[in-house]
Amino acid sequence: MNNDSRCDMIAENIKVILHNVAEAKASCGRESDDIKIMAVSKTVPPEYVNFAVSKGFSLIGENRVQEFLQKKEYYVNNAEIQFIGHLQSNKIKYIIDSVSMIQSVDSVSLAKEIGRQALKNGKCMDILCEVNIGGENSKSGFSPDSLADAVYELAQTDGIKVRGFMTIPPKSDSPIYLEKMQRLYMDIKAAKIDNTDISVLSMGMSGDYVDAVKYGSTMVRIGTGLFGARQK
Ligand SMILES: *Cc1c(COP(=O)(O)O)cnc(C)c1O
Repeated sequence: MNNDSRCDMIAENIKVILHNVAEAKASCGRESDDIKIMAVSKTVPPEYVNFAVSKGFSLIGENRVQEFLQKKEYYVNNAEIQFIGHLQSNKIKYIIDSVSMIQSVDSVSLAKEIGRQALKNGKCMDILCEVNIGGENSKSGFSPDSLADAVYELAQTDGIKVRGFMTIPPKSDSPIYLEKMQRLYMDIKAAKIDNTDISVLSMGMSGDYVDAVKYGSTMVRIGTGLFGARQK
């Protein structure tokens, strides 16, 4: 596919996504809610990420530290970057200054190390706790049962602020888990835990974002549905 035709495809996909999100919002009476759409950039060359930014998709999700470090100098500077991939403690220092949120916080110890690195850099990092809502062995994240206690503990940690939750539900029976995650989010948000500001439910990818909007998602993360099939 040449350069122009890939941009044409991305532009077309953007229209479809905006239409689908608007329709999903309307179908459940959420027209006035602001639902953020994240462009998930793994394997996508920076020129196409920048094209999406130019079309208004300026929130970018990065999965891999190494790939992000190679690409970030090519990104236009009005892109907002958040980290969504598995993160090892020893890599935090490479991204702490260039992302606005880390969504893939899957343990208390990782969160505390993010807090330490953030303080070193004179900032407070917004984080989402990743929730393994389906209890799958193949996925990382807090178990639904341990989540509330973890949030209370992280609320006491300097250098981070818990803003909400991110999840990747099991592929089959996705709506059951979307609903379960919505309930958990609502319950913990309603507890109004001091030093937290829980207002983000990052849920929904190319295959299930329409359903996710119906179950209260405030941010959908779209890769293939925006940029096309991944090359590697
Ligand atoms: C890859 C990825 C996505 C996007 O997946 P698609 O199915 O391509 O839309 C969303 N969230 C995370 C955490 C991912 O790793």
